[in-house]
Amino acid sequence: MVKTINRHSPKITTLADGTDALLHMTDLVGEEDGPLIGISASIHGNENCGSQAILDLYRRLKDMRLRGTIRLLPVVNARAMVVNARFSPIDQRDLNREFPGDPAGTFSQQLAAALTREFLGKIDMHIDLHSGTDRPTVDYVYLLNDEGLSRAFGSKILYRPDDTKQGTKFSGTTKDVTVERGVPAAVIELGGGIVDQGPYIERIVEGVLNMLRHAGAIDEEATPPPAQIVVNEIAGIRPTKGGWIEPLSPPLGDELAPHQPLFRVVSPYNFEVLEEAKSPFERGIMIMGHLTRNIVEAGDYGWMVGNLDGATS
Ligand SMILES: [Zn+2]
Repeated sequence: MVKTINRHSPKITTLADGTDALLHMTDLVGEEDGPLIGISASIHGNENCGSQAILDLYRRLKDMRLRGTIRLLPVVNARAMVVNARFSPIDQRDLNREFPGDPAGTFSQQLAAALTREFLGKIDMHIDLHSGTDRPTVDYVYLLNDEGLSRAFGSKILYRPDDTKQGTKFSGTTKDVTVERGVPAAVIELGGGIVDQGPYIERIVEGVLNMLRHAGAIDEEATPPPAQIVVNEIAGIRPTKGGWIEPLSPPLGDELAPHQPLFRVVSPYNFEVLEEAKSPFERGIMIMGHLTRNIVEAGDYGWMVGNLDGATS
């Protein structure tokens, strides 16, 4: 049993309907002193696998002996989650490009500022849960500033972003606050798609529990990670035309033949093949894709392929 469970819901701002926008956090306070570990999900409102995993983590963790405190923030972007959208409908901004935020800015900028003040600026370790949406499915973990923590999740593929190549493309994410503070941070990308999410949610729960063992919050030996592949380059391949999408790719984590076909887009109206997309690499590995036939819009999120040239273990 944890020592105490504390709930607190700091206010972000007042909304036009008169209600308060709040951050709902639950602290599981362990019997022994230790670090404050923050676990968050649904920064992007249409990626709710992590939020569901945090519910299951709460059910498991509340009966465990813990060292330190685990702060659960299951739904960061509630306004976006309830309409299953990536961005808040109030200002349509990408919250995960707005950190550290602006208390005098738009709603998402204020939300980012509240997160920095109430969560990211206080915790000693951060685990942020992202996923695919109700369309593509994704499976990898970012390697940021704590390799052991990220590896302990147990995913096959890890991604070490090459900051010299990415430039400022991903500035304004949570790591602008956590890594800047020297706080160990891990970003998980797992789940999504029009398939049963149960197995992905279970993998997130087991992976995060193992990270907590690795961090010493749970007094059990961490399971060593499986054989892992670290890629430094990921190509995102979106359908450039709308229509029926027909997946041609192998399962996530599988290696791809040189320029292997990934998907085709077919017109629902005259049945023509509008587009066929291939892996851009000689040696690629599947990181994200649609697992089922579906309708897509031009430019929707599609596939991600890792480059195995230059990859390490
Ligand atoms: Zn996300």
